[in-house]
Amino acid sequence: MIDVRELWRTYQPAPDITVHALRGITVTVMPGEFVAIMGPSGSGKSTLMNVIGALDVATSGTYHLDGTPIDALSEDDLSDLRNQKIGFVFQAFNLVPRMTALDNVAMPLMYAGVGRRERLDRAADALASVGMGSRMHHVPTELSGGQQQRVAVARAIVTDPPLLLADEPTGNLDTHSTDDVLAIFDGLAAQGRTIVLITHEDDVARRAGRILRIDDGRITSDRRRRAPGVGAHV
Ligand code: ADP
Repeated sequence: MIDVRELWRTYQPAPDITVHALRGITVTVMPGEFVAIMGPSGSGKSTLMNVIGALDVATSGTYHLDGTPIDALSEDDLSDLRNQKIGFVFQAFNLVPRMTALDNVAMPLMYAGVGRRERLDRAADALASVGMGSRMHHVPTELSGGQQQRVAVARAIVTDPPLLLADEPTGNLDTHSTDDVLAIFDGLAAQGRTIVLITHEDDVARRAGRILRIDDGRITSDRRRRAPGVGAHV
């Protein structure tokens, strides 16, 4: 699903300052893997996530997403690829405040050119799949943080993307809501969806089948708990 080789991302915030946010990252993620990325603040996690999410292009190295080399794509093609292949979940939920859960979840389907009736049907199904079917007509302020994040997960999966990227998805949630959201991720991984999430919390990372640690732009450890899609403990 993800094939990254010798990825460097270098920023030049001023003519005499060079920041190497990524220093030669090489990693492959198989379909159906659930991967947690951990590392101290400033280690390059968000930069790596932005490259994997095709929101940013590396300075050097190669990246294939589901077999497609993304380095060669135009902005339009990149945005199509993101729409088809990737669902994003953010720490702050990022729902549109004045829209109902249903309309929030239906929105990515509009960009995908799906007609209104089908959009609403599919959004309702996605909301039901995260246990939010009875709340679909509520706006975000009428929902708890955990419920808002479940809506955001529904929005991320409504286009049926093979890859789900989550940046600190439980960072704003209490323990109970964290468990709810992680249980949904477990279910999605069991269905064969690839999940990559950034977290600071050991409890959250333990739910993933694989933990990548990065420090100073390099992978410092890569531990697999179970073979992808098998579920057997190694
Ligand atoms: P993390 O997500 O692990 O906290 P980041 O990927 O945000 O780390 O940042 C990695 C490094 O790259 C840090 O040293 C950060 O200051 C630097 N960095 C990130 N974005 C930029 C940018 N747009 N311009 C300059 N430096 C940046």
